[in-house]
Amino acid sequence: MPRDTQIAPNCYDAEPIPVAAKAEIDRLLATGDLFRYTSENAPVSLLEAEFAALMGQRFAVAVSSCSQALFLSLKALNLPRGANVLVPAFTFAAVPSAILHADCTPVLVEVKDDYRIDIEDLHHKIDDQTGAILISHMRGHTSDMDAILAVAHERNIPVVEDAAHSLGTLWNGKKIGTLGTIGCFSFQSYKMLNAGEGGILITNDADLAARTIIMSGAYEHNWRKHPGLEGSVLEWQNKLPLYNCRMQNLSAAVIRPQLSQLDRRVENGRRNHDYVANQLNSSDYITVPAPLPAELRAPDSLQFNLKGEWTDSQVQKLQAECKANGVNICVFGLSQDNARAFWNWQFLPKQPDLPRTRAMLMRACDTRLPARLTQPDLDFISQAILEAVQTIKGEQLHLA
Ligand SMILES: *Cc1c(COP(=O)(O)O)cnc(C)c1O
Repeated sequence: MPRDTQIAPNCYDAEPIPVAAKAEIDRLLATGDLFRYTSENAPVSLLEAEFAALMGQRFAVAVSSCSQALFLSLKALNLPRGANVLVPAFTFAAVPSAILHADCTPVLVEVKDDYRIDIEDLHHKIDDQTGAILISHMRGHTSDMDAILAVAHERNIPVVEDAAHSLGTLWNGKKIGTLGTIGCFSFQSYKMLNAGEGGILITNDADLAARTIIMSGAYEHNWRKHPGLEGSVLEWQNKLPLYNCRMQNLSAAVIRPQLSQLDRRVENGRRNHDYVANQLNSSDYITVPAPLPAELRAPDSLQFNLKGEWTDSQVQKLQAECKANGVNICVFGLSQDNARAFWNWQFLPKQPDLPRTRAMLMRACDTRLPARLTQPDLDFISQAILEAVQTIKGEQLHLA
């Protein structure tokens, strides 16, 4: 039966920015007060205070992107040049890039077909050269933080959480991004809070906060506009390079009125995800991996694996069939130049061999599922995917 793709939900448009942002943006435009360090209580400083309070951490430092937050975090850890940083092999290309930028060496760790780091391979790869563990909670899938923190603690290795896409996720009731030494978040448009671009890092460690603040570009005595530093910052004054990746006031003015929307977005995102996941799991050919028992997720997209025997050409046909049905799904390893397929990171000094992660990426499907979707949208998406699977698998039966 041909589908009415006219009613296909748009999964790419963002939610409108709350109108409350408007007055503040008008004020900033009228005064031209866009630099975060000109005024007292500038929007960027207020965002930092609000975000730190929301996450229950002492310090928050707003910057130009999550990738820059990751870079500054690694720099602030003062690792020896070339130190190994363990990172899951399923992540976004900007993450190993941030490790290289910080003069460290990314060591990719296998990821299982539930999209989470393979703890056994992590144990296998951790050694005396390991300076830090950087955990990308990719697409909001939380890796086993208990196991990771245990081995990190045992060896006294800091953990940086790339929680870019995990704002609102809980682990044993604790907020993701607060479990490691530093947590980093993104305000890029596809994340829970949308400023187009932007990032923020959080920590309870005053010394690390001081170092990231100075390096982010708080030159001279601008650090005074960050509360709670005092002694820790004086030690670092004029001793660190400035990487100038500050956030500007307009970004903060766009983000701040979205903070109160977060709970709703998280709740609706999870409801949408679990509804579609449940429908897809009814197929013999699809598995949506379950969350880990300690995890309460905050998804705004859905990933699923193709179960049983699928050839590459069948998977490609499935992508085309879903598209014809009005829903875009992307198989990470089969779409050209995908930035989440590690073999496309040709800038790495050494190309790693990671058969498990590669196998996962060749069969893992990705579809966006924003929080604002309605029940009919969700049904449309599930049906589009299930019918496409049927068409492909039906063809195969027919041919056999
Ligand atoms: C989006 C994302 C990033 C990059 O964030 P930017 O703010 O665009 O630099 C890094 N890691 C993960 C897991 C992401 O989802």
